[in-house]
Amino acid sequence: MSKTVDLKRCPFCGAKAKARVVKGDGLTLGMVECSNCGGAQRCIEDTCRGAVVMWNDRRGEKIAELKFLKDFCREADLSAEICRDQLRSLWTAYCFHHNLIADTLDYDMGLTELWGIIEKSEPDTGDWGNDEEFDNFMCAYLV
Ligand SMILES: [Zn+2]
Repeated sequence: MSKTVDLKRCPFCGAKAKARVVKGDGLTLGMVECSNCGGAQRCIEDTCRGAVVMWNDRRGEKIAELKFLKDFCREADLSAEICRDQLRSLWTAYCFHHNLIADTLDYDMGLTELWGIIEKSEPDTGDWGNDEEFDNFMCAYLV
């Protein structure tokens, strides 16, 4: 029996994965397994639910990507238009990767962190002069 679940692609190879329940030796496992490389997440229960939640939990990736964005804010020359455009593209990709929607709490928290870095080094450019203008600039491709 299989149910349609919203599974992310394999974190190792990018292939599609399947969720199923495996029974044997008196043990029942919920399991998500990659169709290509065998990457798997198991959870001891008689449904796939726990395994699916763990498989889809990519918090580590999200933290790493936001750190990359923060480092970019510190290191890039944001007085240059091309760097500002690159920052916006990176932010747009980050929002797509993690299903962030403009003006939600999660979205605003990430953007506030970036602005906290930027206002120290590049608070005034051709694209923004305060946090509200920065917000409008960054969400241009998302709304
Ligand atoms: Zn895989």
